[in-house]
Amino acid sequence: MEDCIFCKIVKQEIPCADVYADDKILAFLDIGPIAVGHTLIIPRRHYPSLWEIPGDLAKDLLLAMQKVGRAMMEVTRATGMNVVMNNFGSAGQVVPHAHWHLIPRVEGDGLFQVAQKEYESREAMHDLARSMKQALG
Ligand SMILES: [Zn+2]
Repeated sequence: MEDCIFCKIVKQEIPCADVYADDKILAFLDIGPIAVGHTLIIPRRHYPSLWEIPGDLAKDLLLAMQKVGRAMMEVTRATGMNVVMNNFGSAGQVVPHAHWHLIPRVEGDGLFQVAQKEYESREAMHDLARSMKQALG
């Protein structure tokens, strides 16, 4: 895609600190890391979100995340890792080229402090689950 910053990185029009590359996948350090070692994994081909990615490629991406994540944790001495994918603007997706964030974690680093919500009732939770099952078709 013409104006996509990640497509430009894939085409080497914009430099990156690459960590992993194969014929379908690229992983590189995020230039605005929320932790040292914060890595992005992208398909080389432009897909806007999770839902356009073909199944075979999804599998390859997951295997690459395992491989890169293991190396990232070893080098940064992280004791944990978050795998985060933002889909669409309301979820915080800034670059409309599907990508995953691999974020190294250590105890007490203070990242991702979110308040948990509660369902109105157990029944409300099960009603929602039923609606979602129906939406699966
Ligand atoms: Zn792109």
